[in-house]
Amino acid sequence: MPDSNEDKLIVALVVCSRCGNAFMIKKGQKSSDNLVCDNCIRLEQRKRQLTDSVKESQKEIESSIKGYKNSLRGAKSQQIKQIYFDKIKKTSTTLNKSVELLKKIEETNEEKYIEEYKKLFEEMKKEYADK
Ligand SMILES: [Zn+2]
Repeated sequence: MPDSNEDKLIVALVVCSRCGNAFMIKKGQKSSDNLVCDNCIRLEQRKRQLTDSVKESQKEIESSIKGYKNSLRGAKSQQIKQIYFDKIKKTSTTLNKSVELLKKIEETNEEKYIEEYKKLFEEMKKEYADK
């Protein structure tokens, strides 16, 4: 294909495929259907970081639940069983919350929500820590 006039421009205005905002790209930067603006790229990075820490915590929570289940199995008295039942219940609730949180992080396209989700995550971790 011969060079069109458009190819001689230094910058081009394109539309972000995520947020729909127009932004500039340098000519020569490969045009594809997946053009994403800097804001969306930053948001994506923050989402990924937060997602990774939530997933990391989920692993800890899961292994705690496993530990409680083992203790429950070995518990001799009804009273001690009850303690482990409660621990499992409470920890499972925290795990469910973290799953919801991951979904929210995945779905959000707004930076301000990432801050809120970060706070929720901190609270979730605190709750888990003083179970
Ligand atoms: Zn964008």
